[in-house]
Parts: sequence; structure tokens; C-alpha cells
Amino acid sequence: MRVLILGAGPAGLTAARTLRELAPSRSIDPAITMVSAEPSPPYSPPAMADYFLTGRNDALYWQGEDVCECLRIDYRPGFCVASVFPDQRQALLEDGSYLDYERLIIATGSRLHAPLRGYDLPGVYNFKSLAAARQLVERVKAGGVDTSLIVGAGFIGVEVAVLLNELGCAVTIIDKLWLMPNILDQETAELVQKDLENRGITVRLHAEALRFSGESDVTGVELDSGEMLVADAYIAATGVKPNVEFLEGSGLDIGWGVRVDNRMRTNLPNIWAAGDVAETFDRMSGERYVHAIWPNATAQGEVVAHDMLGFSTNYAGAETMNSMKHLGLPIMAVGAARGSETLRWRKGDKLRKIFLHDGRIVGFRLAGDTRGAGTYRALMLRRTDVRGFGEDLLDPRFRITRCVSPDVLYH
Ligand SMILES: Cc1cc2nc3c(=O)[nH]c(=O)nc-3n(C[C@H](O)[C@H](O)[C@H](O)COP(=O)(O)OP(=O)(O)OC[C@H]3O[C@@H](n4cnc5c(N)ncnc54)[C@H](O)[C@@H]3O)c2cc1C
Repeated sequence: MRVLILGAGPAGLTAARTLRELAPSRSIDPAITMVSAEPSPPYSPPAMADYFLTGRNDALYWQGEDVCECLRIDYRPGFCVASVFPDQRQALLEDGSYLDYERLIIATGSRLHAPLRGYDLPGVYNFKSLAAARQLVERVKAGGVDTSLIVGAGFIGVEVAVLLNELGCAVTIIDKLWLMPNILDQETAELVQKDLENRGITVRLHAEALRFSGESDVTGVELDSGEMLVADAYIAATGVKPNVEFLEGSGLDIGWGVRVDNRMRTNLPNIWAAGDVAETFDRMSGERYVHAIWPNATAQGEVVAHDMLGFSTNYAGAETMNSMKHLGLPIMAVGAARGSETLRWRKGDKLRKIFLHDGRIVGFRLAGDTRGAGTYRALMLRRTDVRGFGEDLLDPRFRITRCVSPDVLYH
């Protein structure tokens, strides 16, 4: 079986590892080729900030720098795939060469999505790949970057803000809504804001950037108010978008990402997709969605390998789940950020909010004390009617085992 994996992020690498681990039980020894547009060994994007701060690369190369040798993967770093021809079972690389396959896994992840003019001007940095992040950090470490401006306060923007602040740079971060608006409700976001401001980071909210201005080089960011913000370094952190453009004309069904079923199969035979590039469905609502987070990428990579080898499998759906520990206060954000009813408890910087709909948990946000997260998530996934628990749910020591039989929850 000749398997070609496009992309060496957590989705592609997990698929490769799982294939290697499971194949012997099917008496198969797949020949695995993995291509990455980037020149580095497979790495972990969430570990980049820590790597640039500490220089330690053990978490960055999360499966080891030699993982491809260990898993007998024919790894081709620095090769970009330009097209896929499903009828011929071939992928065309940008250097003009072709790679044949019998089974194809599309795991090309996502890149910066910047729906504003000027984002591609020289001097606008992003943090969406190791190479891009390195350019920014090397410039900051070389000196001469006293001030920086980050456009977009999602979790990547906030992570870059904390990193640049720790590297000694004055940081301003702006967003048209509030901090991490796709993940946090406004009240929880205010606690994160306080933490950033305590570090000396300037947070400007409800400020929409219209464009990065400049001719041959970026010189400022123009806001909808007409104000022009100026800094020594500019970073675009306005969102992410699946890398699907090279698949145009391939016959694959593509929406925001590559559409897959509950076995991560695309609409074409022998082609699967996983990770940030795959449009799956939300575990709770069932709606088609791309939840571009690490746990979804690795879970989907595993499903691909199981299905390819003929093991029965059923992807339960993608989740919104973010745990933030690098901020001054721990945050846990799972599921929806609103419901028809909210249970709320707050004491100082400790905040617990559980969002309910029809008596069921549809999401929760915990700040300062994340105890209970596992319990709430289990209740949410089981769609357990929690009305009987009332305000007891907000107690960090609340345990479902005290109240309902584990059989109800886990079967
Ligand atoms: C700074 C940062 C912090 C993050 N922090 C968190 C976090 O705390 N928690 C969390 O859950 N998630 C986090 N994420 C998101 C998480 O990293 C992604 O969801 C995950 O990496 C997706 O894995 P993937 O394998 O689908 O894609 P990616 O990791 O994006 O990998 C895609 C791969 O495809 C390759 N590729 C792309 N196009 C081509 C092409 N045309 N030809 C060949 N190869 C190609 C790339 O080179 C790369 O190897 C963070 C992301 C970033 C950038």
C-alpha cells in the first residue's frame, strides 16, 4: 500500500504513526511518503512561543526530531504540492515532479486568513508557521523593534502579544470585538484583558483595522475611525483559513475546507482529509465546521488511519476546546459561549460560567480555577439534563459520580 500524506503537522504525523502502529495487525507494511511545504522536521505550532523564549526544542519537535526515520517515513521537507490528479493517483509538486499514490491523505492545515488590504506588504509578519514566526522573532531579537502592533486578538494574537512582551517589546493588540471573541464570552475576556494589561500590554478593543498601509513596505495600520497606528513591527493575526487552493479542479468537494464524512473520507475514493484543512461537523450541533485546534487534528488523523486499514471507526465530531495556561490565570473554554440560560459564579478573578440550553450544558468558561472541566464536558457530551443539580454545578468540587451513576454518563 503506497500512502502519500500531504502535510506534516499533527494531523498528518498522527495518521502516519497510527498507520505504522496498526498496519502489522492487518499484515500490511505501507510505504509512507510525507510532504511538507516547510523545511523543518514535523513540529508543534502551540510550542513555538516557548521554543523562541527558552530555546528548548523538545516540545517543538513533539514526536522527536528523528520521528520520520523512526516511523520509516520517506519525508520530503520543503516540497510544496501544486495540484492533485485523483484519476491518475498523482500529486504534482511545485518543482514539476510527480508523486504516485494508492491512498492519499490531505493534511495541509491552515494559513493566515487576513481579510484586509495590505496584509501581504513586506514587513507584515504572521505567526502561522515556524518559518514565519522565526522571521519575526529574529528581527525582534536583533534589536530595533521597540514597539509592535498586533492586528487580531484571537488565541494566536494573544500568544504573540505575550511572547513579544516577554522579549521586551512594547505591544499593542487590537480587535474589532473583544479578546478571543471566537472562544471567550466578553466577561471572561475581560479577565484576560486585565492580565495582559498588568503585563504592560496595550489592549485596544472595538477598533477595526481597515488596512495595512504603505507602498513598498508597511508603514502603519489604518483604523475605521481614520486613526493611523504606527509601530516598528506589524503582525497580522486575523484568523486562519484551510490550505485548499491547490486542490482546485481536483473534483474534491470543498466548502470552507475539504468536506469529509464521519470516517474522514472525501467524496473521491482513496482520498481522506484531516486536521485544519478538513471540514467536518461540530460534535454538539452537527453543523459542518472547521474547528482548527490540535486535539481535533490528531483525533482526525487517527480516524483516517483506522479507516484506511479497514478498522471500523466513527468520528464523533469536532469540538471547540481551548485550555490556556500561559496567561496569568488559567482559562478553560469548551463548547458554545452562550446559551438560553447561564449559571454564573464570580469571586475576584475567579469566574465560572456554564451555558445551558433546554437544561443541557452546551458550553462553559472557567477562569482562575479550572476544576470541574472534565465533569462539565462529560455532562455536555452526554447531553445530560442538569436542571436537577441547580447551582451545585458551579461548585468546583462538583462530581458527577456523586449525583448520577457513571453508567449513565459513559455508556
Ligand atoms: C501559534 C499557534 C498556537 C496554537 N496554539 C494552540 C493551542 O494552544 N491549542 C490548540 O488546540 N491548538 C493550537 N493551535 C492550532 C494547532 O496548532 C492546529 O490546529 C494544528 O497544528 C493543525 O494541525 P494540521 O496538521 O491540520 O495542520 P498544520 O499544523 O497547519 O500543518 C500543515 C502541514 O501542511 C503543510 N502544507 C501546507 N500546504 C502544503 C502544500 N501545498 N504542499 C505541501 N505541504 C503543505 C505545512 O507545511 C505543514 O507541514 C495553535 C496554532 C498556532 C499557529
